[in-house]
Amino acid sequence: MIASGVPIIAWRLWHVRRHEDAYRLESFTWHHVSWPARTRFEAECSTHGAAAPVRGHECGIYAFRTRELAEDLLRRYTGVRQHYGRTRQELPPLRQGCPIAIGRVSLWGRVLARENGFRAQYAYPYELFLIGGQDDLAGQLRRLYAVDVWPS
Ligand SMILES: [Zn+2]
Repeated sequence: MIASGVPIIAWRLWHVRRHEDAYRLESFTWHHVSWPARTRFEAECSTHGAAAPVRGHECGIYAFRTRELAEDLLRRYTGVRQHYGRTRQELPPLRQGCPIAIGRVSLWGRVLARENGFRAQYAYPYELFLIGGQDDLAGQLRRLYAVDVWPS
């Protein structure tokens, strides 16, 4: 276990998808798991329940140590390959209507180290940068989650 008390700030990605009447942050890897607004997202495991994250298992809320690591995942997801010998600096284009948020996230409760980042018990977005999406989407997410959201 890494931390107790003071939240860790890390980086991650979210899909931004419409749920009923509002756009919500959605897990990048577990589809249709949306993050609640104005309350913590809690890790849950089909094996360990609310005891997640558990050492030796893959449960918990994932985040990266750095923005660069989160951007690497985004590049792999969108299928844009690196050139030999150098890393692409710009982010790849997204499909229309499928906005993604990259941002900082607060992690607290039980937090375990993993390769390139963390697995946490509790999390809440700290600051979001939108990639793609309509002009008013940043405002909608800012009001819903009550955090800073920067349009692309
Ligand atoms: Zn588990």
